[in-house]
Amino acid sequence: MPTSSPRAINQRTCIGCRTVAHATELLRFVAIDSTVCVDADSKRGGRGAWVHPTPECLRLALTKRAFNRAFRGPMNTDAVQAWLRTTMEQRAPRDESG
Ligand SMILES: [Zn+2]
Repeated sequence: MPTSSPRAINQRTCIGCRTVAHATELLRFVAIDSTVCVDADSKRGGRGAWVHPTPECLRLALTKRAFNRAFRGPMNTDAVQAWLRTTMEQRAPRDESG
């Protein structure tokens, strides 16, 4: 029976739904000159914000202005909204028309 890992590694909180998840389950964003950018490879340094890569959590984070809070200032979230649109297009249900 597996016991809990001796070290809780890479646990992050989604700024959308505020749920703690493993870093690999979350999408990392970084702030570059007051602009929020997607950090797909998690290679950029500095302060990061973590969100589930789902339309629900991305929208929550935008609605609650969680990025402003995470980066302590008014942020340009165009990249987040673009990412949200892309995600929604990928997840769009196929209507059976025709
Ligand atoms: Zn979430």
